Formats: sequence, C-alpha cells, structure tokens
Amino acid sequence: MHSYLLFYRCTRCSKEFGTDKLHYLCDDCSRDYTPGMPLKGVLEAVFDYEAIAKAWKEKPDPLLFSAVDPKFYPPIPVGGTAFFSPTLLQTRCPQLRNVRIKNDGLNPSGSYKDRASQLVVADAVQKGIAEIVCASTGNAASSLACIAASVGKQAVIFAPKSAPPAKLIQIQVHRATLNKVDGTYDDAFKAALDYTATHECMCRNTGYHPLTVDGKKGAGLEIYLQNGFTVPEWIVIPVGDGVIFAGIYKAFVDLQRAGITDRLPRLLAVQAESSDAITKYWESGVYADAFKPSTIADSISVKTPALAHWAVMALIDTDGKAVRVSDTEIQQAQLELARYAGVFAEPSSAATLAGLKKAIEMGWIPASAGTTNKEAGTTDKESGTTDKEAGTTNAGSIVLLITGHGLKDPSAVKL
Ligand SMILES: [Zn+2]
Repeated sequence: MHSYLLFYRCTRCSKEFGTDKLHYLCDDCSRDYTPGMPLKGVLEAVFDYEAIAKAWKEKPDPLLFSAVDPKFYPPIPVGGTAFFSPTLLQTRCPQLRNVRIKNDGLNPSGSYKDRASQLVVADAVQKGIAEIVCASTGNAASSLACIAASVGKQAVIFAPKSAPPAKLIQIQVHRATLNKVDGTYDDAFKAALDYTATHECMCRNTGYHPLTVDGKKGAGLEIYLQNGFTVPEWIVIPVGDGVIFAGIYKAFVDLQRAGITDRLPRLLAVQAESSDAITKYWESGVYADAFKPSTIADSISVKTPALAHWAVMALIDTDGKAVRVSDTEIQQAQLELARYAGVFAEPSSAATLAGLKKAIEMGWIPASAGTTNKEAGTTDKESGTTDKEAGTTNAGSIVLLITGHGLKDPSAVKL
C-alpha cells in the first residue's frame, strides 16, 4: 500500500502546497499570525479520491486515507479501538438506548492523541528528522513521547507545570525532554514554536502540523466501519483546541469526497463552561478567547483554541451544536460511565456523556434518536436499510467519543 496524498491546501485561501517538504501554515494567510490567536491558514491534506474509491471497492481500509505511506509507521499499533453498546447504561437511561461508545482511551499512551503522533512520527521517519517538538497540556506530549520512543526519535516537550503529575511522569518515562512552562497551554504553544524556529526539528503542535488533523480522522473512519458502514446520526466530541473535532469532520468529508458516503454526521461539541471559546464563536459568529479557563478537564482547558475557525466551519457544515458542561456534571458523568459502562474516562471524555444528556434535555437530539426514522417513519432495525438508502437514521446513531483514560488524572475523580 502507498499513500494517496496529492497535496496540501490552505483551508482559508485554497493555495496548494507540495508534499515534498515540511509545510505547516499557509505562508500567505499566516503572515499576520501571532501566537495567542487561533491559527490562520491551516493546511488540509487532499487525496486522489478517485483512486481511493477504486481501492476501497476491493477492500475497505482506513489506511487508504493515510497521508503517509504506512510502511513508515512506527511499530507500535495505534487505533483499532473498541466500539460497543453500553447495555447496562442504556437500561438505566432509556434516552441513551442508541448510544455507542468509541473508546480511544485504549490507545498505547491512553489517549486519542496517539493517532496524530503516529502520523507525525511516520512523517519524521520518512523525512529523516530526528527531533520532534510539541506543546501540550499533557496528553499530546505523553503520546508523542510514547510513539517517538518506539522508533528512537527524540521528543522535546513544552508543558504547563500545572499538568497532571501522571502525565508529566508519562512524558519522562519515555525519555522525552520535558520543559515545564510557568504558564498556560497557550504559553507552552508559543515556547514550542520559538524552539522550532531555532532548531532543526519537526513541530507536532496540534493543529499547526497538518498531519495532526489528518491523524485524528482515523477514529472517524473506524466509526464508519464499526457502525456497519453507516454514518452515525450524531457524534459527541470533547472540544478544547478543536483539532479532534476537525479530524472527525475531515474523516467524513474524505469519505464523502471519495463517493463512499453521501452525507455527514451531525457533530456535538462539548466544552467545559470556562473553556468555551468555540461554543461562543459558534453562537455569536465572533471569535473571542475563553475568559479564564479553569476546569478539572485539563485536556479541554484552552484559552485560545488553535483550530477555532475549522471547528466552527465543521459545526456549521454538519448542522452541529455546541454545549457547555460544568465540572460537577463532568464528575457525575465520569462515575456513571465507570460504574455502568465499565469505561474509566478522563474528565474531558466524560464530558461527552454530560453534554449529550444536556443536548437531549434541550431537545437538540431526540431522546429516541436513532430508534425512529422520522422521515421514513420506520425503525432502522425494522427497515433494515442502510443510511444511503434511507438517508436518515441508522443503528448506533449516537457515538460518544472517549479520548483519554481516567488513570491519566485520577485526582479529578469525585467518589
Ligand atoms: Zn492561505
């Protein structure tokens, strides 16, 4: 297998960039960019969709959409995570009867971020770059440290010193260089960019390196396969800097571009109350930083989301919604997932359950979503139709995306 990547394209001005060398942001659109504002001129990977469609007919495989030839992948397996119905939780909460869980906390470092790290490290292997730099609140850094260790690349990490201790230990146990930053994630992001400007290295800052979004589409592709080759009605995603959100969106955009599907799932963005820049942006149409992010869900605690523009574009394009949840609601959801689904999720991921319940309460998502096909008036099980045929709902139509393992930050648990 080889990569069907053709070129990179600016999501703002559509300028195209070759794949021969390392590109981060569009040089035109990022000219007036300064750290401390959402990224401008983020690049997206564009593929030979016709060739992918042909190969997909022979054998449907998410790797067909990989931006790096899989032969450069690190040896440690990433992805292929569990997708299942939490039946006891569904019995306790009938409004959740059609919920499925995609548990990406089961990746090698316990985090969804391994998907981006896998692709960026593969890119570094292909390009022969020895050092990879990353700013992170903890998960992206511990993920990069883990995946880089498997191929002998040196990870250089900039993380707020307030990051959960378990994540800081995880970074160091994989022999990464840890630079603790006396400040926020946004300060760490800037420090990593400064380092990149003065060293021969690759920058894995999330959203900045185009393969971070493309790596993160992997779970979206798997969801489509695991959901019986049907597009879910809703996917519920924890949102901090918006990169996972953009990644899941990109998965379904790519499937659509290849003619494999004919619609997008609706996306529900779940943010912590104090870290709600993307929700505010979606509500008002005007970007402003989160006022003062302070939440137990450290993975989604962001003042200036790097991919605010792309995330809001995804919300609009998928007819999605955005919702805020409190720390108390997150902690309750964390216990509920652990006790009735067997999933110990870190607070940011538990936020998805709290957010889904809120969206149901607000009438955004029907309590019985997925069980009744509103347009056809049949249940999906009875009709036995695929989403292509029915064009509406289907089995397993609400997917909760779990992005990190609870052991990453056990101190956040409120028993
Ligand atoms: Zn541009």
